[in-house]
Amino acid sequence: MILVPLDNPGYKLIRNIPIMGDVGADYFSHGEVTFTNCKVPVTNLIGEAGKGFALAQARLGPGRIHHCMRWIGICERAFDLMCKHVVTRKLSDQKVLADQQMIQFWIAESRAEINAARLMVLNAAQTIEKEGAKAAKDEIAAIKFFVADILIKVIDRAIQVHGGLGVTDYTLLSFWYRHERAARIYDGPDEVHKSALAKSILKKYTTNL
Ligand SMILES: Cc1cc2nc3c(=O)[nH]c(=O)nc-3n(C[C@H](O)[C@H](O)[C@H](O)COP(=O)(O)OP(=O)(O)OC[C@H]3O[C@@H](n4cnc5c(N)ncnc54)[C@H](O)[C@@H]3O)c2cc1C
Repeated sequence: MILVPLDNPGYKLIRNIPIMGDVGADYFSHGEVTFTNCKVPVTNLIGEAGKGFALAQARLGPGRIHHCMRWIGICERAFDLMCKHVVTRKLSDQKVLADQQMIQFWIAESRAEINAARLMVLNAAQTIEKEGAKAAKDEIAAIKFFVADILIKVIDRAIQVHGGLGVTDYTLLSFWYRHERAARIYDGPDEVHKSALAKSILKKYTTNL
């Protein structure tokens, strides 16, 4: 892994790849880049030569838990918007949305799910702190798909209670809905983490047979 300054003649940004409507026009978002005969000083090396992949992998455990923490923050904000809206939005019979049992279920379920997500992330963080990221790989796999799923569910419920307003850009909900959908894909899709976790669990059973 080596640093290549952007003014290197061999570096080229081919294109920014638009993500859910975000073209990344004013910054190098998710860019397709090429490096052709880039010459850089050997002091630009990060870590040891030939160990770049391992270095990139080492970053993933703490990187994933960082995403989960950020997602919990977004969940809390979406939840707050949902609660504020349902207690004020009047229905035709002088009731407010919050009087509807379905809405109450969504509030209760969202609260329980966010709390569960927070405790799971805290538990993973404690394992990383005490035993290192490698020892916490099962916990990290679990939070990666579990918290991403809750994030999408909570944002979706918050949009639903806002009705038409929820899909306008007058609240942050539509931005989160677009921006955070990738949570179930980047740093490993849900299915890969579920598979990895299941294999790790089942290994203990098969080796003990
Ligand atoms: C917004 C965004 C930001 C990203 N940022 C980065 C970054 O900073 N650095 C980086 O290195 N990468 C980044 N990625 C890449 C990301 O990690 C990959 O897109 C992701 O790992 C999925 O790989 P893929 O796109 O090749 O899909 P594929 O591997 O083709 O998978 C497609 C789908 O097939 C299913 N699937 C795949 N493998 C399995 C399996 N083993 N079992 C069951 N189902 C499976 C899943 O549903 C998956 O979504 C980013 C992606 C996005 C969308």
